[in-house]
Amino acid sequence: MKRFFYMAVMFGLCAVLCGCKAVTPQRVQSVDTAMGTVIQQNIFQVSGDTDHAGEIMDLIRSLEEDLLSRRLATSEVYAVNRSAGSPEGQNISEELAGMLEQCLEITERSEGAFDVTLGPVIRLWDIDGWAAGLEEGEFQIPSEDELARALALCGSRKVRLEQGENGSKLYLEEGMELDLGAVGKGLALTEILAYLKEHNMISGAVISVGGSVLTYGDKPDGTGWRVGVADPRAPATNLGVIVLEGQWCVSTSGDYERYVEAGGIRYHHILDPADGYPADSGLCSVTVVTKDGLLSDALSTACFVLGREKGMELAELYGAEALFVTDDGSISMTPGMEGMFQAAQ
Ligand code: AMP
Ligand code: MG
Repeated sequence: MKRFFYMAVMFGLCAVLCGCKAVTPQRVQSVDTAMGTVIQQNIFQVSGDTDHAGEIMDLIRSLEEDLLSRRLATSEVYAVNRSAGSPEGQNISEELAGMLEQCLEITERSEGAFDVTLGPVIRLWDIDGWAAGLEEGEFQIPSEDELARALALCGSRKVRLEQGENGSKLYLEEGMELDLGAVGKGLALTEILAYLKEHNMISGAVISVGGSVLTYGDKPDGTGWRVGVADPRAPATNLGVIVLEGQWCVSTSGDYERYVEAGGIRYHHILDPADGYPADSGLCSVTVVTKDGLLSDALSTACFVLGREKGMELAELYGAEALFVTDDGSISMTPGMEGMFQAAQ
């Protein structure tokens, strides 16, 4: 009986001591580049032993090298594009098959505004070249004929995706080319989220991959995560912030992210599959909030092309929240976004 009493006292003492030693998470910050964009990480971790930010960078780089890149011969997308026209098609991983399935559904639901087969048109505009920086007079506006020829090689309806028990196969017609630029950063968020969930020493994080931001867990001070919405005409300043609790994905597509100006006209990187020209839908930017990264990234691109009214409908179809900035600078949003967005004073 006496021994039992002493054990109980010891147990109580231990519990009190452990309770007192609750560890405050430390913030680890990192800024780096991958996927042709800036990766900013703020990770709150209760043990400083592991370089989580470094491991996340490795993960993003291998996603680019092994799966998404159009340029690197190591990637699946590269192999798929090389296989275009082959009657045998190309074996693809479950990850790429799942991603394409999701993309093809969004193409259907957006009536073709979002289309990952726009590769030939994107190449014609040389959008990657703009990022590398153009010399004076280097920018060429494609002719109507060139655009028509490139557009004839596009169209998700021409993609055949076969998913079976023995794996998945993809068939592209001759000349077709996938470009997953509109969803790559969102897919990175999905992979980062899986990494964070596997590491219980991480209590919270906010990580941005270009225009897509992942929030996860809690901030030690108990306040919500604050994700800025850039002013499209002064991107260094915010129009306001979206305040979020726990896990969310926030993606922005804007005409200020990548563009060239010629003859007083801004040619930006979000193309309308209907005519191959930069989308002219009356918007400067769209920000979408959903639980899933690929979805938020795809929807922000799709909504930009569709414009405010149709974009609003598409966002609502997916239960996503969206904020639209129109050419005249006015802001409109889905009802759920009203409760998340705080305009700058
Ligand atoms: P985002 O910044 O996420 O809106 O993605 C823009 C990128 O996606 C561009 O740089 C192109 O590589 C690609 N893209 C452009 N227009 C479209 C479109 N309508 N559908 C799908 N991908 C597109
Ligand atoms: Mg996108």
